[in-house]
Amino acid sequence: MTKRKAVALISGGLDSMLATRAILDQGIHVEGINFFTGFCVEGHTHAIRKHDKPKRNNALWTAEQLGIKLHIIDVIEEYKDIVINPRHGYGAHINPCLDCKGFMVKKAREWIEENDFDFIITGEVIGQRPMSQRKQTMPIIAAESGAHDRLLRPLCAQNLPVTLPEREGWVDREKLFDFSGRSRKPQMALAKQYEISDYAQPAGGCCFLTDAAYSTKLQDLWRQRGDKTYELDDIMLLKVGRHLRPQPHYKLIIGREDGENRFLEGYRRQFTALRASKHNGPLVLLDGSFNNEDLQQAARIVARYTQGRDEESVDIDVTHHINGVVETLSVKPMSSDDIQQQWHI
Ligand code: SF4
Repeated sequence: MTKRKAVALISGGLDSMLATRAILDQGIHVEGINFFTGFCVEGHTHAIRKHDKPKRNNALWTAEQLGIKLHIIDVIEEYKDIVINPRHGYGAHINPCLDCKGFMVKKAREWIEENDFDFIITGEVIGQRPMSQRKQTMPIIAAESGAHDRLLRPLCAQNLPVTLPEREGWVDREKLFDFSGRSRKPQMALAKQYEISDYAQPAGGCCFLTDAAYSTKLQDLWRQRGDKTYELDDIMLLKVGRHLRPQPHYKLIIGREDGENRFLEGYRRQFTALRASKHNGPLVLLDGSFNNEDLQQAARIVARYTQGRDEESVDIDVTHHINGVVETLSVKPMSSDDIQQQWHI
């Protein structure tokens, strides 16, 4: 009998790991797909900032643990429409989870058609997430993606209609699961049964769009540009640094630690950069348009974040990205009282 082939959506979390393992155990050949949208939590801030935990790409690590091949697919451009115009709207923040899931399953459906695979598996569990993983939304994802009954959710399959791989006897429905609800206990128990002890802890979601602070920064970006668009650099920079908008037409991106300062160094060609020349302090990028008065204000704010904050005057080097010219401004550091709360994005 031909060995049947499935592709698994691998996020790097426990659920997709368990779902894949359950299908591998039924003798199916499984390969993983991980979509890179630009909003993924993994691989960027985790790699940039200091952490006690090892820095790793959890999707790759999961695939390695499972012994399957992983395809990482860049969907940055196509994904923009999902974030900007979600047909089903947003969740609690700017997370278009239902459209996003439909999009990812659709991409997986196209992939199995091109690669001659038989079906798709995901780690979805009914009731696990308020927006995309509800009993009513499961058929929407299956239908809108065009996957229909080629989409199998092993962790909650017994609560859902029979799918093609079950009907055809490629997988045994009795050996699948009936998990539902927000509790993580069934997953923990299954992980134990599979002797999986190391896995990424479930966070609010798989990406930054579920993060309140990130969503506020993205909305600020759209509002100030008067346009709901973005480029990869924009959404990367929203993950890094402290963002302050003292004037509607410009904001400061202030590195919070060495890793972020080094990351921001990479953007010096695109943004005017400010840094104290004689005191330790962050690298700061200026995003937007600004005149000399704004530059004085920005330099005073930057001085506040340096070790010279209590001095009468601090020298701030301003490197203009357009012509590479460096000018030094000697400014009085702004007092903490003058840094207004509403500037913080
Ligand atoms: S949390 Fe992010 S990646 Fe996950 S389904 Fe929602 S929008 Fe998509």
